[in-house]
Amino acid sequence: MIEPSEGVTREPRIVHVALDVPIDRLFDYRLGADMQAPAGTRVLVPFGARETVGVVFGSATASDTPPERLRDVRRVFADLPPLPEHWRALVSFTADYYQRGVGEVAHAALPPRLRRAAPLALEPDAYALTEAGRAAAVSLPGRQKHRRALLEALAGQPWRAAADLPLATPAARRALHDLVAAGWIMPHARESAPCDAHPAPRHALNAEQQAALDAITGATGTFAPFLLHGITGSGKTEVYLRAAEATVRAGGSVLVLVPEIHLTPALESAFGATFPGETLATLHSGVAETERAIRFAHALTGRARVVLGTRLAVFTPLADLALVIVDEEHDTSFKQSEGVRYSARDLAVWRARDAHCPVVLGSATPSLESWHNAQTGRYRLLSMPQRARPGAKLPPVRLVDLRTEPMEDGLAVPLLQAIDATLARGEQALVFINRRGYAPVLACGACGWAAGCTRCAAHLVVHLPERVLRCHHCGLVAPVPRACAVCGNVDVVPFGRGTQRVEAALAARFPAARLLRIDSDSTRAQGRFAELAEDVREGRADILVGTQILAKGHDFPRVTLVGVLNADAALVAADYRAPERLFAQLEQVAGRAGRADRPGEVLVQTRRPDHPLYLALARHDYTRFAATLLDERRSAGFPPFVHEAVLRADAPELTDAVELLREALRAAPPRDAHVMVYEPVPMTLARLAERARAHVLVQSRSRRTLQAFLTAWREQVGHLRRRHDVRWHFDVDPLEF
Ligand code: ADP
Ligand code: ZN
Ligand code: ZN
Repeated sequence: MIEPSEGVTREPRIVHVALDVPIDRLFDYRLGADMQAPAGTRVLVPFGARETVGVVFGSATASDTPPERLRDVRRVFADLPPLPEHWRALVSFTADYYQRGVGEVAHAALPPRLRRAAPLALEPDAYALTEAGRAAAVSLPGRQKHRRALLEALAGQPWRAAADLPLATPAARRALHDLVAAGWIMPHARESAPCDAHPAPRHALNAEQQAALDAITGATGTFAPFLLHGITGSGKTEVYLRAAEATVRAGGSVLVLVPEIHLTPALESAFGATFPGETLATLHSGVAETERAIRFAHALTGRARVVLGTRLAVFTPLADLALVIVDEEHDTSFKQSEGVRYSARDLAVWRARDAHCPVVLGSATPSLESWHNAQTGRYRLLSMPQRARPGAKLPPVRLVDLRTEPMEDGLAVPLLQAIDATLARGEQALVFINRRGYAPVLACGACGWAAGCTRCAAHLVVHLPERVLRCHHCGLVAPVPRACAVCGNVDVVPFGRGTQRVEAALAARFPAARLLRIDSDSTRAQGRFAELAEDVREGRADILVGTQILAKGHDFPRVTLVGVLNADAALVAADYRAPERLFAQLEQVAGRAGRADRPGEVLVQTRRPDHPLYLALARHDYTRFAATLLDERRSAGFPPFVHEAVLRADAPELTDAVELLREALRAAPPRDAHVMVYEPVPMTLARLAERARAHVLVQSRSRRTLQAFLTAWREQVGHLRRRHDVRWHFDVDPLEF
């Protein structure tokens, strides 16, 4: 039997705390008599020899931990209202589904600033009495007049706005801080009141936009997943904005996820114009730590009503969530590829279900998973097959056959002629090649040696402006060798081409044109992309050369020609998702042409002009191409017709990684015919940053069966003896093989 340590109170004095440790359970701690820590509160606790911040997930009057091992909560953070039940449910679901510890997920879900052992200096905008505060108020000496006034103001009310509390003097504010520190008063998340959006000048919606908007707003208050399939330029942003406005006006809040905010400044400014000031909270990894925590807090308290963010924003605890939007839902950057490996798109759908609200997944080229869901009726399909601007049309696509057309420096003559004509009309041309750097390989013409990364199983990429070799996987930088490392031949040459080489070729061919290279090298500095995009829009560039950064949802009205180089390379990729991605990328980049009233054109250089992917692209026929791909996936037994997960291991030596996987297989729970488990194989990128990588693929037609198997298996893998330098993790719905 465990005696309550205080001996007097029956209140729950034990809290179950989620900690960022790789052991999947909650840890019990004793709460001091003067502390209040309801579920959702952050607390500082000792763990081993260190102290760490955890989140309270529950409480009890007694613990299974022996009293002599039970340690005390060191500190309770009362800077924010407790993280709400729906946030904890999201964290728990994520942990279960992605096979991680609740504490690891809770930690990853908090902005970094809130994981630190220092409270956020934030003035909450509402407060409520705690149990202890209610009890203590009775016996407070009359001379503590500020404390008494505060307790009286809060007594008998569920909560009160800070503005309505007697806080006029510094002494009164000190008293408030003392009461919060003593656990008598807590910050409170106020229920949000309806809030007005800014009436920005707007287009009148066309019939398709209106129909989409009506469907979304008509589903208010119910879980309703929509797939908004709108071609490039069909005006999806306008639909998102209006749906968000209607939701905020009705007192709800809105979560909007986008792949990369800094690459879509136009979307951000459209939302900024509609939702002024604190109503909009933008969240991404570029926001300074404290500011990010404050915005997270504002969403929690209902002060911010629209959260616009990248995948990490999916964990924002919005008050009164009433609409979820995922723009460019096919984009793979919604998948977190390190640490807790979650899909923000899929979690966004889960959140909408949990909050009983509509969710809109928007794309011109939906993921096959979402498309399949729309085909089978799990999602409602909303189509916008026309460009929104009057007169704007999808550009014709011309396939330039490299087997017959002459090339100059990697550029086919018809493309050069088209650029000439575009420049002559005073319009802009965009040349797309999805590879940055100068050349992807530096090789010896005599013996075939190629410069490789010493840390990865990958070639080093030549970067000419800095005259270095770079590894695009681990970031290693090496000098350009003067001679072949094997045979000493001094004639080492760059093979293939990247953006820098194409830029150089275009500069030589069009000396009078103003060239702009836009890739992750040229846009690394904060705000640089927005500047370059502005240059493009203002007509301060004639030819743009860039990677898929340029394919995202930009609106460059002067671009009328898009040239695509080297797309064939992706046709031979081993990954079964490669065609889906290539089509999406090309359709997106093609969609940059002719968005305004001037007609556009797309030229694709290829040696395989009869490939079904290009033929579909030439017709802008996503629907038929998706049907073809889905047929292939069905007969090959790939997602979305099966569900997948991998157990991955990495170690300095491949044999050790594989050995761990073999042991894991031996320890795997018995499986029925509905779970397929494959043999360990090295990953496609078999070595990354000095770690060899291998994995075991698991498939099942039933998600539930797969989940049950994984949960049982993880337990077993956790018990394996392993060398300290061998690591493992599960990746559920993996995108990387
Ligand atoms: P998408 O995101 O679907 O590719 P956008 O939302 O960027 O398309 O819209 C493309 C262009 O069409 C923008 O310049 C936008 O201002 C314009 N637009 C949107 N809706 C309308 C409309 N109803 N009438 C006229 N122009 C519109
Ligand atoms: Zn050589
Ligand atoms: Zn490397």
